[in-house]
Amino acid sequence: MNMSSIRAVVAHGAGDLRVEQREVPVPGPGEVAVEVRYGGICGSDLHYWRHGAVGEFRLREPLVLGHEIVGHVRQAGPGTQALPLGTPVAVHPLASCGTCRQCGAGRRNTCLDAGYLGSAARDPHVQGGLADVLVVPAERVLPLPEGLDLRLAALAEPASVAWHAVRQAGDVRGKRVLVTGAGPIGCLVVAALRAAGAGEITVTDVHEEPLAVARAVGATSVVRVGSEPDGLDGLAADLAIESSGNPAGLRTCVYGVDRGGLVVGLGLLPPGDTPVAANAVITRELRLVGSFRFDTELGEVLRALSDGRLPADPVISSVLPVSRTDEAFRLAAEPARSCKVLLDFADPATA
Ligand SMILES: [Zn+2]
Ligand SMILES: [Zn+2]
Repeated sequence: MNMSSIRAVVAHGAGDLRVEQREVPVPGPGEVAVEVRYGGICGSDLHYWRHGAVGEFRLREPLVLGHEIVGHVRQAGPGTQALPLGTPVAVHPLASCGTCRQCGAGRRNTCLDAGYLGSAARDPHVQGGLADVLVVPAERVLPLPEGLDLRLAALAEPASVAWHAVRQAGDVRGKRVLVTGAGPIGCLVVAALRAAGAGEITVTDVHEEPLAVARAVGATSVVRVGSEPDGLDGLAADLAIESSGNPAGLRTCVYGVDRGGLVVGLGLLPPGDTPVAANAVITRELRLVGSFRFDTELGEVLRALSDGRLPADPVISSVLPVSRTDEAFRLAAEPARSCKVLLDFADPATA
């Protein structure tokens, strides 16, 4: 497509989200321009929009949001080995330094000098991908497997986060698992557990609607948590994956696993130190491990989405054009009305 300018979804501060016209970015050596088709709206995008910050990362300059990006190769930079123009691709959002001890140990997701698309963690901020065109290093552009629908591929980034969390748990085949939180990440954790051969999967949430999505992607039982006693303390699961980002969810995990069980913390908790039921961790000999972003999982997740092993489709609840960005963000912020909301950057003339 010929463009004289691009649209970009930009957070300027708390409550100040704008769709702006920007210059068309041009790839330099080693870079590729991707014509974006879909961008998923993530919890972190919602935080920048509503609070001007995610945890400790505060907006200090306007930030193009978005890190869940798929589209087509549009242009390669000078001398760049790139995929043929028009190839459908997913973008890896992580830039790692490649030289620190974490990168050296094969843990690029905990790189000491990492950058992530659409993040205010660094100065200057790393601008994101909710825009008509995104320029990234060529090695961070992955071709989609033959036949994988671009819309479904838009789940590849959050599904990789979920896949990594399941990998942190080791061999889950036949295991009884508790997942707290049935938002997009919790539901993708359920789908990834299914793909990895888990046994019973119990999912909790405070809302009814997300639990229906959890069932659709493979939960064997669901529990609505709230004021009523939920009976989860006696569940004695082998493993729990905390996906709600709520301290109460972490507590449910600690008491919901059996003695000697494993708790994987995935949902980012509010900033600062969170109290944990540490004595229960000690006396019940639990293991508590974290899970943050992902590294090499993206290619495997694209294949699993393509061959049907990862039954993630029910997670996409709405697809709205960029012209309705405000509505899309409001919708994404209401867990009773939405799961994963995608923005569609199709040319308005052809949409
Ligand atoms: Zn995300
Ligand atoms: Zn590094």
